Amino acid sequence: MSFWCRVLGHRWEGCICRRCSQIRDKKHNYEPVEGKCEQRCTLCGKTEVLPCDWHGCACRRCGAVRDQKHDWISTNECEQVCRICGKEREHHRWQPVDRGVDKCKYCGKIHKLTPDEIMKRDEEWSNGFM
Ligand SMILES: [Zn+2]
Ligand SMILES: [Zn+2]
Ligand SMILES: [Zn+2]
Ligand SMILES: [Zn+2]
Ligand SMILES: [Zn+2]
Repeated sequence: MSFWCRVLGHRWEGCICRRCSQIRDKKHNYEPVEGKCEQRCTLCGKTEVLPCDWHGCACRRCGAVRDQKHDWISTNECEQVCRICGKEREHHRWQPVDRGVDKCKYCGKIHKLTPDEIMKRDEEWSNGFM
């Protein structure tokens, strides 16, 4: 601390003393940081995290994406894509058409079962017949 600050008190300008450059954790001159959910004091450089500005599943400011509130649009009967982040989801109504092959009755997509799935299904079926 400088002599004058000791005698007269600090000359605060925002969070910083103009005379001795001491910093206090008060009256920061925050400015938003471009592209981040953060604000930064132009005088002392202290940063503070801001809550994200969520618009559906994405933050308008920093671009963060959360797995919530997607804005789904349908691309066909069974598939949807989020208009905001591009995440995809599908909900097919599978029906077995052959051993190890399912077909969706809505969009006609083919799903090949893995050997494990085939085994499981064979078991289910043989149980069903008993
Ligand atoms: Zn001072
Ligand atoms: Zn500051
Ligand atoms: Zn954000
Ligand atoms: Zn999304
Ligand atoms: Zn389908």
